Amino acid sequence: MGRTLVRKLTALALTGALALSLTGCGVQQKPAETRIFAMDTVMSLTVYGKDGQQAMDRAVDTIYRMDRTLSATDSASAVFELNNGAGEWVDMDPEAASLLDEALQLGEITGGALDVTAYSAVKSWGFTTGSYRVPDAQELRTLAEHIDYSAVEVDAEGARARLPKGMSLDLGAVAKGRTGDLLARQLQEEGISSALLDLGQSSIQAVGGKPDGSAWRIGLQDPAGQGYLAVVELEDMAMGTSGGYQRFFEHSGEVYWHILDPDTAAPARTGLGSVTVVSPSGLLCDGLSTALFVMGEARGTQFWRDHPELPFDVIFVREDGSVALTAGLEEAFSLAPGYEDREVTLLT
Ligand code: AMP
Ligand code: MG
Repeated sequence: MGRTLVRKLTALALTGALALSLTGCGVQQKPAETRIFAMDTVMSLTVYGKDGQQAMDRAVDTIYRMDRTLSATDSASAVFELNNGAGEWVDMDPEAASLLDEALQLGEITGGALDVTAYSAVKSWGFTTGSYRVPDAQELRTLAEHIDYSAVEVDAEGARARLPKGMSLDLGAVAKGRTGDLLARQLQEEGISSALLDLGQSSIQAVGGKPDGSAWRIGLQDPAGQGYLAVVELEDMAMGTSGGYQRFFEHSGEVYWHILDPDTAAPARTGLGSVTVVSPSGLLCDGLSTALFVMGEARGTQFWRDHPELPFDVIFVREDGSVALTAGLEEAFSLAPGYEDREVTLLT
């Protein structure tokens, strides 16, 4: 008898707890939200949870700190000092040194498609100032000769690096992704289980899912228009897009964009409008979306097949509007209303 009572009471207590937690979900808390300008772009952060506001304030501090540390234009940053130095060793923030080290490793495995030393060429085209110009063939050859990630020496443990005089580098292709990784870890350590960080220019970091337990639904921009051509469902995942539509100028009827082919120092043209990478690692998303945009679909798909040890999937949007995606995204990807007639190929 006694035992039955205990069982009944336990059952009651459990039902009570369940009902309470359901009420907790039902009365959805308002998230903490903010928009800031950092890393040359507008970022929007949404953080759920009872301590969401404090967690978000600390996240914003982290973003500004990373912006200062990784900036190529802030005269107080080590990257600036490397670019304007005499080819000597320069002490760096350990965070910047380790990101540089990892960016060089990504340079190595992508066969130089990701090359942080493309920066001299990025400047020559005017992408850092907005004073755009088209360098002539001779200038492009000289610029391309000075793009070589393998000439950068980095001592990640000693937090220092050395760049040959006359070369310059920037971490713009990987900074937002790495920042997203740091923020996700920081928020999780602070007990946040639901947040969406839009780090601008299509760098997304999803912490958990939505507060109701469903996945975040992220729009994939149509590179040839204003709308979203597809939706990607994400949970505890990052997503990064690189595309010619993000920063470009027109000259004599030709469009020139900010992602350069390190072999030619000119905009990478491989018939793609954009490349999106989805991965648990924001750094991989950011670095590989840039690299795969340079490689193009055929080389990029082969790279995906050749690197099963790297946890990532890819969406290629071609200039003709058709889409190709790797097998891991079959479930998470769907065309948006109005785009249902787009041709979609599954890459295996
Ligand atoms: P993302 O928007 O992440 O694709 O990065 C593009 C930015 O990275 C550009 O604005 C340049 O500063 C820099 N960049 C351009 N081409 C390359 C390249 N091939 N490898 C590395 N960084 C690049
Ligand atoms: Mg990138």
